[in-house]
Amino acid sequence: MSGEPQADCLFCRIVAGEIPATVVRESEATLAFRDINPQAPTHVLVVPKAHYPNAAALADADPALAGALLAEAGRVAEDEKVAESAGGAGYRLIFNTGAGAGQSVFHAHAHVLGGGDGLREKLV
Ligand code: AMP
Repeated sequence: MSGEPQADCLFCRIVAGEIPATVVRESEATLAFRDINPQAPTHVLVVPKAHYPNAAALADADPALAGALLAEAGRVAEDEKVAESAGGAGYRLIFNTGAGAGQSVFHAHAHVLGGGDGLREKLV
């Protein structure tokens, strides 16, 4: 069934507490934890606790949860002081979608990237 935990999914297992992670925020429906291989001084992943394979599938099945995920990503950026409103220089949200675009964990997640000079180069 849509949204059900998947036994072979890394992020479902982190949500279940079976695999450790450095959690920075938690809400009823989302979990935010530090990426194990950070690509910027702040690199946090925000995931829905329910399993959807990517951000588009999440938004299709549960738009409110997709909105909650984005709001949590913004709160992470505030907490980490990378948001302009918290005195930072700004941050980037990335949803890799599909293996060809670099997605390696097929449980929807936002990358929150900020800090340092590495984000000054625009991708698009
Ligand atoms: P993506 O490649 O967009 O699917 O993003 C998956 C991310 O998960 C990568 O940036 C990995 O570094 C990160 N990652 C993989 N295993 C873990 C883990 N155990 N804890 C935290 N982050 C992880």
